Amino acid sequence: DRNRPYKYDSYEFELRPLITVSGYPGETGYTSINEVSRVLGSFIDIAKISGNQINLLTKESLFLINEQQNIDQEMINAIKRNEFNLVYQPRVNMRTGNIAGCEALIRWNNQSLGNISPAVFIPRAEATGFIHSITDWVIATAGIANKQMVKKFGDTFTTGVNLSAVNIRSPGLPAKIEAITKEYEITPQCFDFEVTESLLSEDSKVVIDTLTAIRNSGAQTALDDFGTGYSSLSLLTYLPLDYLKIDQAFTQRLDQPESDRDIRIVRAIRDLGYACNLEIIAEGMETQKQVDVLLKDIDVSFGQGYFFGKPMALEAFMDTF
Ligand code: C2E
Ligand code: CA
Ligand code: CA
Repeated sequence: DRNRPYKYDSYEFELRPLITVSGYPGETGYTSINEVSRVLGSFIDIAKISGNQINLLTKESLFLINEQQNIDQEMINAIKRNEFNLVYQPRVNMRTGNIAGCEALIRWNNQSLGNISPAVFIPRAEATGFIHSITDWVIATAGIANKQMVKKFGDTFTTGVNLSAVNIRSPGLPAKIEAITKEYEITPQCFDFEVTESLLSEDSKVVIDTLTAIRNSGAQTALDDFGTGYSSLSLLTYLPLDYLKIDQAFTQRLDQPESDRDIRIVRAIRDLGYACNLEIIAEGMETQKQVDVLLKDIDVSFGQGYFFGKPMALEAFMDTF
C-alpha cells in the first residue's frame, strides 16, 4: 500500500515513487547500458524538475540537467573569483519626486557560462544551499555601498535586499545579519529586507519570529511581488512588515486603454496595505502614463521601475541621482 506512511524511528515518511523512462538505445543516442547507468542521477533530477511522476529521458531533458550541473559547479567558486556584482535600482517618493532608497539586485558574470540571470541561478542556489553564502555576500556588499549612498541622499535612504524563503527558514539568519553588520560597521537601519508572498504559505511561526528579530535589529521588512502568489489576507495583518510591494504585473497594465479595472484593483491593494499600516511601493513603472495614474488616481507613496531608473552599478547610481 504505497499511500501508507513509512515509519522509521519516531519519524513518518510519505513515499512517492518517481519514474523516469529511457529508451535504449533510444532518443538519447546511448549505445551501451553503461552509458545509460552513468546518467542515473539525472533520471532523478529530471523527475524532480518536471514534478511529474512519470517522465521520459530525452535529449532536451539531459541537456537541461547538464546545464544545471554546470551552473551548480561554477557557482561554488563565483564569490572567490569575484564574479558576482550588485546593481542598484532607485526607489522614489512619488509625491516629492525625491529618491528614497534603492533595491540591490545581483548579477553574475561567469568565466565560461557568461551572464546568467538571477531568475535562473537563484533557484539553483536555493536548491543547493549556496543561497546562504550569496545572501551573506549581498548583505555585506549592499551595506557597504549604502554608507556612500546615505552621505549623498541622507540618513533615511534605505537599501532593499532580497531574501529567499530558504534564508527565512534558517533560524540563524538574524544572528548572521547582526554578525555581518558588526564586522563591516554597517547600521542595520540601512536595510529593508524583501521577502516574497510565497512565504505566507510556510510555517508562519518561523517566518514571524525571523521577521520580528530582523525588525528588532532596526532593519525594515517588505513583502515583495504582492498579488502574484497565495495571498493569505489574515497573515498579512500580523506579519511584522513595513512595506508592501505591488507586483509589476499590475502597474504595467495601468496605461492600457481598458485600465479601469486594474486601477480599481491596485487601489484595493493600496487600501489593504494602508489598513495593515504598510507603506506601498509600486514596482515596474515604465511610462509617464503609468506614473500619472499611480499619482493622481491611486496615490501610492513610493515607486520603482525603469521610468525612474534601471538597475545600475554603484558608480553610475551615484553619478545619476
Ligand atoms: P524582484 O525582486 O521582483 O526584482 C525586480 C526585478 O524587476 C528585477 O529583475 C528588475 O531588474 C526588474 N525591473 C525593475 N523595474 C522594471 C521595469 O520597469 N520593467 C521591467 N520589465 N522589469 C523591471 P532582475 O534583476 O532580473 O531580478 C529578478 C529576480 O531575481 C528578482 O525579482 C529577485 O526575485 C531575484 N533576485 C535578484 N537579486 C537577488 C538577490 O540578491 N537575492 C535573491 N535571493 N534574489 C534576487
Ligand atoms: Ca525584490
Ligand atoms: Ca518584485
